Amino acid sequence: MTTAVVVGSGPNGLAAATVLARAGVDVTVVEAAQQLGGGARSVESPLSGLVQDHCAAVHPMAPGSAFFKTLDLEAMGVRWAYAPIDAAHPLDRGEPGLLRTSVADTAAGLGRDGRRWSAAFGPSARAFDRLSPVIMSPMLRVAKHPILLARMGLVAGPPPALVGKFFREERTRALFMGVAAHALQPLTLPLVTGIGAGIIIAGHAVGWPVVEGGTGKLTDAHIAMLRGMGVRFETGRRVTSLRELPPRDITILDVHPHAAASILAGHQPQPARRSYRKFKSGPAAFKVDFAIDGGIPWRDPEVAQAGTVHLGGTAAEIVAAERQMAAGKMPERPFVLVGQQAAADPARANGSIVPIYAYAHVPTGYPGDASEAIIAQIERFAPGFRERIVGMSARSPAQSEAENANFVGGDILTGAKSPLQFLLGPRLSTQPYDTGVPGVYLCSAATPPGPGIHGMGGYNSANRALHVLANGRDARREEVRV
Ligand SMILES: Cc1cc2nc3c(=O)[nH]c(=O)nc-3n(C[C@H](O)[C@H](O)[C@H](O)COP(=O)(O)OP(=O)(O)OC[C@H]3O[C@@H](n4cnc5c(N)ncnc54)[C@H](O)[C@@H]3O)c2cc1C
Repeated sequence: MTTAVVVGSGPNGLAAATVLARAGVDVTVVEAAQQLGGGARSVESPLSGLVQDHCAAVHPMAPGSAFFKTLDLEAMGVRWAYAPIDAAHPLDRGEPGLLRTSVADTAAGLGRDGRRWSAAFGPSARAFDRLSPVIMSPMLRVAKHPILLARMGLVAGPPPALVGKFFREERTRALFMGVAAHALQPLTLPLVTGIGAGIIIAGHAVGWPVVEGGTGKLTDAHIAMLRGMGVRFETGRRVTSLRELPPRDITILDVHPHAAASILAGHQPQPARRSYRKFKSGPAAFKVDFAIDGGIPWRDPEVAQAGTVHLGGTAAEIVAAERQMAAGKMPERPFVLVGQQAAADPARANGSIVPIYAYAHVPTGYPGDASEAIIAQIERFAPGFRERIVGMSARSPAQSEAENANFVGGDILTGAKSPLQFLLGPRLSTQPYDTGVPGVYLCSAATPPGPGIHGMGGYNSANRALHVLANGRDARREEVRV
C-alpha cells in the first residue's frame, strides 16, 4: 500500500491528506501544535465564553474552491452564514463604501462609480466558475481561458494606487483600497492588486461567508471525515528532519519554505535550497479579540450590518500607512480589519456581549503593543466604542509565530506577497509544489495560489504527488525551472 506523511495540519495539509486518502493512500498527519487546524481554528475565549476565530474568519475563497466543492459540507454539518453586507468602509465624512454580494446592488450604492465598478468586476464575477480553476492554479502553467484572464489582468495587473484613480467617489476608492490592502504590500506595486481583485470577484460570485459556529467547525468536520477514512493524526510533534519520519512514499510539507529547507537539509539540490532560504517574509498582523457589550456603536448604522469592516480612512491614507508599514515603520493610524461575525451568525453573541475580531497591519516582527492604535481607529468611526469593551485579549507577531511556525515574524500570509512571490511561490518553476527532493512536496500558503482558506495548495500538490508516483521519472522531468 502506498504511504504518505503530511507535515502540518492547516487547511492545505488537510486538503492534501484528503486527496491522498481518497486515492487509497495510507496517510499520517504530523502537527507541531497541540490543536489541529493551523490558521483555520476557533478557540473558546476566556472573554465571556465567546467562540473566537483564532485566525481566519471570513471565507470568500472557500465556497468556490475546487477542493471544497469535492466535500459534501452540508452533510458534514458545515453551514456558511452571510451578513447583510459583505464589507464596509466608513469614512470621517460622507457615506461609507459598502460591498455587497450582488454587483448591481454594490454599484447602486457607489454613485457616479456604479458603472465603473460593474465594468471592472462584473464580467469576471459572472465568469467565476471558469475563472476560479485558472487563478487557483500555478500561474506559470496557465493556458486555459486567456481572454478571461486578460480581462481580470486589466484590473489585477496595475498597482492598486493606479486602479483606485479609475474611481471618482472617495467611498469607492477607499472601498477598493481596503480590499487591496489584504495583500499587506506597498499599494504602489504592480500585480499586488491580484489578491484584492481575486477577493472582490470571488465575493461577488459567492459572498464573504463565515462558518456558522466558528471557522473551527469547518476544520473539526474535515478532521472527523479524515479520521473516518483511516487518516491518523499526531499532535505536539515538530518535524525538523526527514529522518524523524516513518518510511513513506510521499511527503507533503504544509510548512514555511525556511522550515522546509531545514527539514530537507542534505537532500535538496542547492538551487532549490537557496530559493527556499531566500524566501522573504511579509509584514505582520497584531490581533485583538474583544468582547463588546451591545456591539460597536458605528456612526453610520449600516456598518453594523457588515461581516468585515476596513478602517483606515481615505484611499490616500491607506496607501501611505501601508507604505510605512512595509518599510518597517509603525504607522500612527495603521490599517485595521474588523470582523463582526455575529452580523452573519447571531448565535455567536452571548446575550448582549458580541465577539469582535480585529487586527492591525504592522511591520514584520513588530515588538510593540498595537492594541491602543486598533481601539483608536475603531473609536474614530464609532465614538463610544471604548466604553463598551468588557474584555480583550491581544496576540503579538511573536506570539503568532510561536503558535504557528508558518507565520514568521507574525506574517499571516506565509511570505511577502510581492509580485513575484505571489505569482510563483518560493521557486521559479512550472511545478511550484516540487521541492527538488523526489517524493517530497511543499503545499503551504507560500505556494500558489497563496494564502486563504481554500485548500488549493494542498489539493494541487497532492494531485502532483499522485501523478509523479504513477508516471515516475517522466513526470519529474515535466518540471521546467525558470
Ligand atoms: C490573524 C489571521 C487572520 C486571518 N484571516 C483570514 C481570513 O479571514 N480569511 C482567510 O481566508 N484567511 C485568513 N488568514 C490566512 C489563513 O489562515 C492562512 O492563509 C491559512 O491558514 C494557510 O493555510 P496553510 O495550510 O498553508 O497553513 P497554516 O494554516 O498556517 O497551517 C500550518 C500548520 O503546520 C504546522 N507546522 C508548521 N511547521 C511545522 C513543522 N515543522 N512540524 C509540524 N507541524 C508544523 C503549524 O503548526 C500549523 O498548524 C488569516 C490568518 C491570520 C493569522
